[in-house]
Amino acid sequence: MDYISTRGSAPALDFAGATLAGLASDGGLYVPREWPRFSAADIAGFAGLPYAELAQRIMQPFVGDSLTPERLLELTRAAYGRFAHQAVTPLKQFDEQQWLLELFHGPTLAFKDVALQLLGLLFEEFLGRSGQNLTIVGATSGDTGSAAIDAVAGRAKVDIFMLHPKGRVSEVQRRQMTTVLAPNVTNIAIEGTFDDAQAMVKRIFNDGAVTSRFNIGAVNSINWARLMAQVVYYFAAGLQLGAPHRPVAFSVPTGNFGDVFAGYVAAQMGLPIARLIVATNVNDILHRALSQGDYSAGTVTPTAAPSMDIQVSSNFERLLFDLNGRDGAALSAQMAGFEATKAMQLTNAQREGASALFTSARADAEEMDAAIRWAWEACGELIDPHTAIGLHAARASGLPRDVPVVTLATAHPAKFPEAVEAATGTRPVLPARVGDLFEREERLIELPGTYEAVADYVTTHAVPKG
Ligand SMILES: *Cc1c(COP(=O)(O)O)cnc(C)c1O
Repeated sequence: MDYISTRGSAPALDFAGATLAGLASDGGLYVPREWPRFSAADIAGFAGLPYAELAQRIMQPFVGDSLTPERLLELTRAAYGRFAHQAVTPLKQFDEQQWLLELFHGPTLAFKDVALQLLGLLFEEFLGRSGQNLTIVGATSGDTGSAAIDAVAGRAKVDIFMLHPKGRVSEVQRRQMTTVLAPNVTNIAIEGTFDDAQAMVKRIFNDGAVTSRFNIGAVNSINWARLMAQVVYYFAAGLQLGAPHRPVAFSVPTGNFGDVFAGYVAAQMGLPIARLIVATNVNDILHRALSQGDYSAGTVTPTAAPSMDIQVSSNFERLLFDLNGRDGAALSAQMAGFEATKAMQLTNAQREGASALFTSARADAEEMDAAIRWAWEACGELIDPHTAIGLHAARASGLPRDVPVVTLATAHPAKFPEAVEAATGTRPVLPARVGDLFEREERLIELPGTYEAVADYVTTHAVPKG
């Protein structure tokens, strides 16, 4: 499988190349040249497979010749063998219509482990072949950072520099990053918001003075391999609820549009999906874009669901590309307009195309609390604030009673104990496997929120290409 850029002018790459590249050289994002498609009979044949085997089957068409089926299966078994639940992503039932897909049984208690545990292994595999070094520069609003650091800590030929907005991630999230003391891990707290940090990371990718000396890699969901790994659990849940014979809806707590885009990919591959509900908090650029066509960035309001405190959703570009008839030149012009003004109107074709599969909803702080309370009081489940936003949107969706609605549980409730306790009176406990987090030593550096400070630090401390 070949990978092409959403902006139409970067060279096509194979899967290994797209995995190591992150952002394309024309500023676009890599997408497969076409969507592989499974027949209903293929999908029926996946029923009952263990997760690691299902993952190999779903991902092989994207991986192409970059890995043999045997090798890919070894990697999926290694990645998902580190999960604390045998089912990897177990499905729970709330009531006749509402379901919960628990994606937080990985090492850092957030859904990002599902993709990043595999990505760390893919980096090691492809760097081992090329003999090159990789410098990962990432920005995190909380969960990406810890999941990425866990996935690459101590691995050969990879350095990671992880930026987070100082004081805007939860203490559990910060400690999960800063207590990893492996020498190839550097945590950087910057003054500013997540969007400021993400803008700096994008700029590093486009800075010739940096990219001529270092291979800069991405662990944010601009990296295609992450989205690919997330497609698998849509199939896993769909199969349990009757795919390919019964369509299922998914409600997805959304920030950078990566997780819900993976659902879109599953639909393109043939999984019958009744609806994808894009759930946002008050940072609602995606809700405005999908309901009114208005994609304009406001200022970020910090909330109890910090991984969704985002005003610019990188992966939305991948959807717009498809909805534009995959016209890279037209999308490049549209995105240049957005980058200049921080606002754009979706075209009619983009709005109509999106409305065939997507709806959206926005939850404020009270609606989020009410969803946490409902899950606890009516169903005996503690859920985290991000998941609660998804559950609010799922229950408000108005879908017919015979369509199962699966809310993606994106973080373990114990990552956000204050918000959960405030809503329910019950404090969630950290699973034993991470229980000593508050006793461990922390290591991080602080930098001002300027591009020069960050670029200078990275280029003086990273290992050149080799
Ligand atoms: C990252 C994250 C999200 C948002 O996912 P996107 O792929 O960026 O849309 C939602 N919830 C939690 C807990 C997260 O860590």
